[in-house]
Amino acid sequence: CGIVGYVGAQQASDRPLDVVMDGLRRLEYRGYDSAGVALVADGAGVLATAKKAGKLANLVEELDLNPLPAATAAIGHTRWATHGAPNDVNAHPHVAGKVAVIHNGIVENFASLKAELLAEGVEFRSETDTEVTAHLLARAYADTGDLTAAMAAVARRLHGTFTLLAVHADQPDVVVGARHDSPLVVGLGDGENFLGSDVAAFIAHTREALELGQDQVVTITPDGAAVTDFFGAPAEAHRYTVDWDA
Ligand code: GLU
Repeated sequence: CGIVGYVGAQQASDRPLDVVMDGLRRLEYRGYDSAGVALVADGAGVLATAKKAGKLANLVEELDLNPLPAATAAIGHTRWATHGAPNDVNAHPHVAGKVAVIHNGIVENFASLKAELLAEGVEFRSETDTEVTAHLLARAYADTGDLTAAMAAVARRLHGTFTLLAVHADQPDVVVGARHDSPLVVGLGDGENFLGSDVAAFIAHTREALELGQDQVVTITPDGAAVTDFFGAPAEAHRYTVDWDA
């Protein structure tokens, strides 16, 4: 339902988690039943996640009890369940190997994709449509070693509606996103960049935005944002300055 992503040039710090939690608070008005975050810690190849059913306060409590490491990149999600009960396990992010994924929308062909993955021996943890995207992404990354190309390959296989964000433990300076019939906006900062399902996610930090077009993939690093179509060809996104008050 609500999506936030962050990557910054600082050494591992609390900022990625702080930015993402603040963004999730600003997206609360949309409604949700669960919330979660994934962080990537610089150098160590660490992927850490926390997720809880219920209000953001439950996630905050979980983070107090079990603090996550300092990080360079983070993604956060508030879920409005469509497939699978609103419980801790079905909350996003969904992890497969070294990949964590958050998703807004519905993967209409998840049943056939899940059957294909089950036949290959993949084990599923959740009841969500979303979890197939995490496994597909982990496998596509294993083939290409490139998170952007992997995201494009996964996006080409999905039917339905999606905004997807992903991080990989071995890519501490990268957050990748894709969209089809569901919004995704980039916030352009100074030595840091943001992603949001709407500009409320990052308006406290920057007003320079890139609105992704239909069927685009975006890769943010501390230095910038690169946009392609689902076949890897460079694409144009609409750049503008957000002109309303935070
Ligand atoms: N279909 C996904 C799920 O039920 C995502 C729901 C959403 O947009 O929050 O987990």
